[in-house]
Amino acid sequence: MRIDIITCLPRLLDSPFSDSILKRAQQKGLVTVVIHDLREYAQNKHRTTDDYAYGGGAGMVMMIEPIDLCISKLKNERDYDEVIYMSPDGELFTQSLANQFSLYKNLIVLCGHYKGVDERVREHLITKEISIGNYVLSGGELAAAVIADAIIRLIPGVLSDETSALTDSFQDGLIAPPVYTRPVEYKGWKVPEVLISGHEAKIEQWRLEKAMERTKERRPDLPG
Ligand code: SAH
Repeated sequence: MRIDIITCLPRLLDSPFSDSILKRAQQKGLVTVVIHDLREYAQNKHRTTDDYAYGGGAGMVMMIEPIDLCISKLKNERDYDEVIYMSPDGELFTQSLANQFSLYKNLIVLCGHYKGVDERVREHLITKEISIGNYVLSGGELAAAVIADAIIRLIPGVLSDETSALTDSFQDGLIAPPVYTRPVEYKGWKVPEVLISGHEAKIEQWRLEKAMERTKERRPDLPG
């Protein structure tokens, strides 16, 4: 899979992809993440990618031309399954969208900044708009990193134990059960007996019960 992220602040995306699971996924060749600096597509001599809003008011607006040039260049090189714009009024990102996107071959993710992008970008260049929650961030970069992370960890081979993504919260409509590690007792707080019993079937049963209990308690809205 290939994910192209377009941004006017590329440095914001340096660290999320250079550590741990996302780094290894790239090293293993399972995913290619390419960050594109919009300034390289700026046409004016100051290399600006934003301008004042027509009609006035506070806040700059990202110009259409550099975005169009960048997207067009990428689309000339390969076919994209989706051109996503990160936006607080987009479709709310969920595990099920992460599953769907993880099957894609090529994805473009455009990050907004300031007041957002010129509306004509949304009308003509974008195929999907995604929000990571009902709050406003100062830019789309962190949101893009969030969806890229959720997508990449689902690509087969990325997680060392391939079944582990399947037992995460939301994957099967259930919240994940509690987990414990050593020591078996800490300040008198004990690990549940069943988990150290070595009895696999009982452990499975306990985990399922806990997952159902938790889902009912915390997320009664999930299918369960
Ligand atoms: N004026 C816009 C907000 C712009 S915030 C409005 O009121 O809707 C600047 C940029 O941050 C946006 O263009 C978008 O790319 C990103 N962003 C902010 N909140 C986001 C969210 N909840 N999900 C995804 N992207 C978000």
